[in-house]
Amino acid sequence: MHSSVVDIKSSCINVKVLPALEDNYMYLIIDKATKNAAVVDPVDPDVVIAAVQAEDLKLTKILTTHHHWDHAGGNQKLLKQFDKSLPVYGGDDRIEGLTHKVTQDERFQIGNLEVTCMATPCHTKGHICYYVRSPNGDEHAVFTGDTLFQGGCGRFFEGTPDQMYSALCQKLSSLPDETKVYCGHEYTLQNLAYARHVEPLNACVSERIEWAKLQRATKSPTVPSTIAQEKTWNPFMRVHEFDVQKHAKAKDPIKTMGSLRKEKDNFKA
Ligand SMILES: [Zn+2]
Repeated sequence: MHSSVVDIKSSCINVKVLPALEDNYMYLIIDKATKNAAVVDPVDPDVVIAAVQAEDLKLTKILTTHHHWDHAGGNQKLLKQFDKSLPVYGGDDRIEGLTHKVTQDERFQIGNLEVTCMATPCHTKGHICYYVRSPNGDEHAVFTGDTLFQGGCGRFFEGTPDQMYSALCQKLSSLPDETKVYCGHEYTLQNLAYARHVEPLNACVSERIEWAKLQRATKSPTVPSTIAQEKTWNPFMRVHEFDVQKHAKAKDPIKTMGSLRKEKDNFKA
């Protein structure tokens, strides 16, 4: 495994981080009060089933961020091996086993936890981020798939710079600062190497690189970060900043977004 399994615990929302494939993360979102759980992008169903059984959880939903095989490719197997009647949520008809097609602002529950869907088309047309809140409104987490990574963002396979701008700088940026960000891949060090190339003088970037190196030396995941932190070190969320625009040789945030993505596509750390 590329990383160790870790539990991020708080009073209402627990998250179990489950590594899969080369650098993917699957997540169990657990409502502590009811032990109801949903799994995000269960590409390796055996690992998910083992965790659900070991913790005596009630798995009630599959949440899919997008249709790519390394995210949705385990849905059918999980349905077959665990429970054929599990509802599969997602925003794209190309998702394996899809039963509940969701759109922007659609809501549902995981036990007592409230989930709001955020449509973030660009990496793929039907990409959804899932924003989770505790019933008292004190705890927040967002599952961002291949839209927002720690220190970076997904490639624009089916979208445009203005769509990624809307996803990162309007929708995700408007979540509470303390919202924990759980992304789809362990790409943090590669992304931050590019972030340092864009903003060599940004101390938040260099400090996070040192921290992430220590984490990775023991195979510890670098997730979660927070929305407030991403705004300090993620160049794709900083396209309003003078230094970032200057690096991109652009004068507006959307052109900056496009030019950063183009440069990152060919960037070697
Ligand atoms: Zn993808």
